[in-house]
Amino acid sequence: MASLDISSILQGGYQHPVSRSWQGKRGLSKSMFMYPIFITDDPDASTIIQTLPGQRRWGVNKLKDFIGPLVKKGLQSVILFGVPLNCIKDARGSPGDDENGPVIQAIKVLRHNFPELYIACDVCLCEYTDHGHCGLLNADGTIDIGPSVDRIADVAVAYAKAGAHCVAPSDMMDGRIKAIKRKLIDNGFGNKVTLMSYSAKFASSLYGPFRDAAGSAPSFGNRKCYQLPPIAKGLARRAILRDVGEGADIIMVKPALPYLDIIADAAQLAQDHPIACYQVSGEFAMIHAGAAAGVYDLKTMAFESAESMVRAGCTLILSYFTPEFLDWL
Ligand SMILES: [Zn+2]
Repeated sequence: MASLDISSILQGGYQHPVSRSWQGKRGLSKSMFMYPIFITDDPDASTIIQTLPGQRRWGVNKLKDFIGPLVKKGLQSVILFGVPLNCIKDARGSPGDDENGPVIQAIKVLRHNFPELYIACDVCLCEYTDHGHCGLLNADGTIDIGPSVDRIADVAVAYAKAGAHCVAPSDMMDGRIKAIKRKLIDNGFGNKVTLMSYSAKFASSLYGPFRDAAGSAPSFGNRKCYQLPPIAKGLARRAILRDVGEGADIIMVKPALPYLDIIADAAQLAQDHPIACYQVSGEFAMIHAGAAAGVYDLKTMAFESAESMVRAGCTLILSYFTPEFLDWL
């Protein structure tokens, strides 16, 4: 029999379920989960999204009955995505801050019915522009950066005025964090609204179901001129540092699972900021598909994926699994 060295033996430290639970710096909690919700402009909509298991596009009239039971289970935060299907889109994304648009209406309904619920809003123009890009364009089809960030900041302020607790720009335009922060401060929201930056948002294959849900595929070209190349660790680190310097309150990495190293980098580069990650539509759909194919158990894999994100350094996870985790935790 081999004589084992004292320093070889680790298993005694994690042989029991309770001692296993002590091995993380931090465990999962309900407040770590923010639920992404698609709000459409048909007020009575409750439309199944085929590519996103269990998720729907909601109309404002349905929100109270949909969110109420989740709040009772411990839901603490949501992030709203506008899905305008009936509005007239234009080059500057005018419907984005329309007072009667779905997002502004939804903020008001949620604030009124669920005063304790933290409401974040995705801020972008692509759902509202006729060309489907996230900014305003020059005549040659390239992004016109100055007017783009100015317009994005206006939309952010409109959501703040409607009562959002957090605005989260997902466009990846250079300088938009500084522009939004400035405009929030100038409009009296500097101390009232959180600015969560999609700092390291990669051009990923995992956004397919979201585009299906939000109807936001660009009409020409793609978003690779502003979303990061998957291999770009250095660029991601620069974007994170830039957004910290420009006044972001929360740093986000998106997608999550293929970019755990970037989450870990963010946790180290922005040590004093909360770090968020977005377990995007394709990650969610992939976990469901694998479970349906018998590759693993859905709940076990959902936990493993979320725990990997916490281990990498996140304290906030945007996830379509949020309702399930409210039951599981
Ligand atoms: Zn966009």
